[in-house]
Order: sequence, then C-alpha cells, then structure tokens
Amino acid sequence: MDSAREKTTHPSGVSRRRVLGGLGIAAAIGATGAVPVAASLLPSATKTANAQESEPAQPTHQWAMAIDLRKCDGCTTIDQAPKCVEGCNAEHFVPPGQEWIEILQVDDPGGYTSFMPRICNACENAPCTKVCPVGATYHDPEGSVLINHDKCIGCRMCMAACPYGVRRFNWGQPPNPEGASLANYTPEYPVPHRKGTVEKCMTCAHRTKEGKLPACATACPMFAIYLADLNSDVGTNGKEIVKFSRFIGTNAAYRLKEELGTRPRVWYIPGHGQDYGRTVDSTVAAKTPRNWQELGATLDSNGMPVRPSSSTQGASN
Ligand code: SF4
Ligand code: SF4
Ligand code: SF4
Repeated sequence: MDSAREKTTHPSGVSRRRVLGGLGIAAAIGATGAVPVAASLLPSATKTANAQESEPAQPTHQWAMAIDLRKCDGCTTIDQAPKCVEGCNAEHFVPPGQEWIEILQVDDPGGYTSFMPRICNACENAPCTKVCPVGATYHDPEGSVLINHDKCIGCRMCMAACPYGVRRFNWGQPPNPEGASLANYTPEYPVPHRKGTVEKCMTCAHRTKEGKLPACATACPMFAIYLADLNSDVGTNGKEIVKFSRFIGTNAAYRLKEELGTRPRVWYIPGHGQDYGRTVDSTVAAKTPRNWQELGATLDSNGMPVRPSSSTQGASN
C-alpha cells in the first residue's frame, strides 16, 4: 500500500458552499457531531418547487465519501468476506476477477496493520479525465467520475494516468446477468458490461441521484463507509448523521496522495478496526469475497439489480 499519506486538508479548504440546516437535520447535530439516522437518509437530487425554470441548472449535491478505519475490520471479527465488496459485486455485476472496492491490508507506520477499502477517489482534479482522447471519462455535475462506454475505445490511457490503480480493463466479454439488455445502460449504471472497455467504481451515481447510499455503504455491517454532501456539509453511514467538515476535521482524516494535487473526494479516518475489537497485532487476513454469480445476484423485470440478502447486511437504504 502507498505510504503517500498526508495530513488532512482542513475542511475549510473544501471549496464547497455549506448550507447548514438546508437538509433540516444539520441543526440537530450536537457537540458529538453525530445524530442517529431514522428511516430516510440524504434527500434525492430533485429540483426545488420554487426553482425558476429559466435558471441554469445547478447541481443540488456534491458527493464525497469518508471511510472510518476505526470501524473497518475487514469483516474479520465476524469471520466473513468483506461485505462491502460483495455488496458492490452484486449491485453492479462486477466482472469476476475485478473488484471496484478493494480491501488492502496496510502496514501502518505505527507498527500495526489495518484494512483499507480502496475505491475511485472521484478526484476533483482527475488525471484520468484529462488524458482520455475521446472524452469518454468525465465528471458528472455532482462530482462522480464516470465512463461512457459508448465512447470508450479501450486505449487504457486513463488506467495509466490514474495514480490510485482503481481502473480495470475488460480483456474478454464479461458475463452479464440474464436480462441485462433490459438494464438500460447508462454511464451511472454500466450494465451490461462490454468487452474492450474500462470499468471502475462509479461512486454509485445511480443510487446517490436517488438519495440512496452507495451499495458498499449499505452492505457494511460495521457502518464504516459514509456518504457526504459537501454542499450541505452533512454525511451519513446509514446509522448516524454527521457534520462532515467536523467529522473529518476532528478525526485526523487524510486523503490518498494529496501531494499529487488530485483533490480526492474520499477521506480516511485512521484506525485498525478497534471499534469492533480488532487488535493492533491481529494477523487475521480478510477472506476472499464472492463474485455476483457466486452470490446469486439477478436483475428484476425492470432491469434493476436484486441483491441477495447476504450482500445487504448493513444500512437499510
Ligand atoms: S464491509 Fe465494512 S468492515 Fe467489512 S471490509 Fe468493508 S468497510 Fe470494512
Ligand atoms: S481515483 Fe483514478 S479513476 Fe478515480 S477519479 Fe481519481 S484518477 Fe480518476
Ligand atoms: S461506491 Fe458503488 S461502485 Fe463504488 S465501490 Fe461502493 S458500491 Fe462499488
């Protein structure tokens, strides 16, 4: 794992408008910076009723994520394969052999090991988008970095440019679920998968636009993965709601390879799974996650994924 970790950019350095209270929940966030989540999570990106039709459309949300390594124990303390990986595999029918969220075991400078889920960092200054010769990879208005597979020519320039190694190439035709042609391919939900194109974590753009947590976050039984809206400065793991700037600012969060100027939108809070009893000297390795076929994931008649219950263990949304 990279040793390239730097101090957290202070939350005030996040150049995003903050509308505390805009979600109607920020005011409820007390001194601990967290409140429990009830049934609903973040609102969907719908247009406000009084928006002027003539105004240029402004993105309602700017998505970011945080992964709390104090909570992530690689799912070892429950003796299971990483549920986040299986949740992602089942949601997206991730081609076997790929992992859009990888669980790395990291040797920390402090002498302990920790698990680090690695996803696309949705970099604000993304090298991948700059090198694509056909403009197939791009930012959506809410900050996700997507790939348009109708345009992708498989040159793999983006893979070479990404300093985080999160992109994968389909050398052969990946298996697709029955009825995949009904899945209504979009860059936000790139199913069916295609030979000769690049794939990666899309930060679950198809779910966030509906106000849902990413599939990996809902699957995490330890609630280690947070989705946050930088506009409202509110984040949640499905169990609690946090004021995001305070959450990352007071917990020494850092981003990967900040020195490259990529401005990742994924923060990590240091830890080694101690919240669930994992010790600093544990040598238990993470188990191998099952792919979507082994999990038995399918599409419903509307072309939407049906995740088996074994891949949906955490939050309810
Ligand atoms: S499901 Fe949660 S605890 Fe398990 S490996 Fe993933 S992030 Fe860590
Ligand atoms: S992590 Fe890699 S693929 Fe994701 S936005 Fe950054 S450079 Fe692009
Ligand atoms: S955000 Fe979505 S696509 Fe990315 S790793 Fe999580 S489940 Fe997979």
